[in-house]
Amino acid sequence: METKDVFCKIVDGEIPCYKLYEDEDVLAFLDISQVTKGHALVICKKHYPNFLATPQETMHKVMDVAQRIGQVQIKMLGAKGVNILSNCYEAAGQTVNHFHVHVIPRYEKQEGFVLEMKENNKDLNLPSIQEQIKL
Ligand code: AMP
Repeated sequence: METKDVFCKIVDGEIPCYKLYEDEDVLAFLDISQVTKGHALVICKKHYPNFLATPQETMHKVMDVAQRIGQVQIKMLGAKGVNILSNCYEAAGQTVNHFHVHVIPRYEKQEGFVLEMKENNKDLNLPSIQEQIKL
């Protein structure tokens, strides 16, 4: 039998959390490891392994709450910006296999959260990649 992930346990009330929002489908709470003050997680109550594997309607509900939490972080915590991200699969840093969105308020440049996107492949064939990714 598959073991329950930590977010399913939070949904089922087996593990406590600092709840920020709850409705029938969505739950939001503070991340136990506060990368910055107010770092929040938004999850769907039903188990899906990650963003890519979540049905569109559920994904939209989660993103709606993430947007609202980001707006409140700006207004109430005095954040100057917000990073909203969802890690999908281990290669991208996902550690809990239950769809969740991080909403990370940003106050200054030097904080616990570092996201660096550097150009890394100058010689790639962009037309060929475009063909492979087209929807
Ligand atoms: P990720 O690495 O994107 O899968 O994010 C998982 C996040 O869940 C991490 O930032 C953890 O700090 C957070 N986390 C793990 N267990 C708990 C918990 N019991 N309550 C709140 N946050 C948690």
